[in-house]
Amino acid sequence: MDPLLAINDLYVGFRVFEGHLRVLNGVWLDVREGERVGLVGETGCGKTTTVKSILRVLPTPPARITGGRILYHGKDILKMTRRQTAMLRRHELTAIFQDPLQSLNPVFTIGTQLRDIVKDSAIGRGHRLSRRQIESRCLEALRVTGMPDPERIMTNYPAQLSGGMRQRVCIAEALSTNARLMLADEPTTNLDVTIQDQILRKLDELVEQQGVSVVMITHSMGVVRDLTQRVNIMYAGTIVESGPTRVLLESPMHPYTQGLMASVPKLTGEGISEGIPGRIPNYLDPPSGCRFHPRCEHRMEICETSAPPFYEPDEGHRVACYLYRGTP
Ligand code: SF4
Repeated sequence: MDPLLAINDLYVGFRVFEGHLRVLNGVWLDVREGERVGLVGETGCGKTTTVKSILRVLPTPPARITGGRILYHGKDILKMTRRQTAMLRRHELTAIFQDPLQSLNPVFTIGTQLRDIVKDSAIGRGHRLSRRQIESRCLEALRVTGMPDPERIMTNYPAQLSGGMRQRVCIAEALSTNARLMLADEPTTNLDVTIQDQILRKLDELVEQQGVSVVMITHSMGVVRDLTQRVNIMYAGTIVESGPTRVLLESPMHPYTQGLMASVPKLTGEGISEGIPGRIPNYLDPPSGCRFHPRCEHRMEICETSAPPFYEPDEGHRVACYLYRGTP
């Protein structure tokens, strides 16, 4: 069966004063119907650029998509008209960003914003709802996210709510669209840790109930472990490893993934490594060959000149690294 979303060899750059930032460097990623997929990597590795490319909300210029395809239900989003991508965002794709204030309009009450979404998604499915039906669906959407006193919340402006409540509103909005694919870009990073877990669990429960596919963008291995079935590790604009979450976390293969895993603090306080030496490369002049080679203790001559293809040492577990040459 074709995946719901398939990103094939995507290249995205940004024209800036100093030159051309080559950010996404041949990204491959797919999401099946009803699947929860993680996208993990350091800040600046291209996760958000990937999400914005899918949504077609990258400002062009300065952004430029220079190669690849993004297939949604087999149709290339990059070849769609503005109107078609707007319809896609309205009815098929939904996103939750790190900062809920990015998604909520500060001058309208939560009720006004939520009613519009509920009304719109019903129209998209060929239904017209009465005022009373719209009201009751809005209240229900807030209620299922665990929001206390939804009637009052409907009359509030975003600035009158706490960060956790605003993020619950964004989740309620995202789930009211009946979208088939949710892009959750570090949805709880800005929240208090005590709220993070609560919101992620609620989100997980709701997407499970609705059968929505999810791309969970995060830098937290804990979130990936708890909420995803497959995971993709991204480094400097490239997916370097992908596979079933449990397998990948227990037996990481790529030197970068191994470094990431070793950097996760343990509760005992033991075994904390010093992290991966070096930093993400400058996208104005990224390293040739494997982009990780300046930081890799296993690098070979070929790593400096030629980008590694994907090898699949175990079924479904793929890694872009020459250490696995000779495997299928
Ligand atoms: Fe290291 Fe070479 Fe593998 Fe890149 S391809 S991760 S430089 S061994």
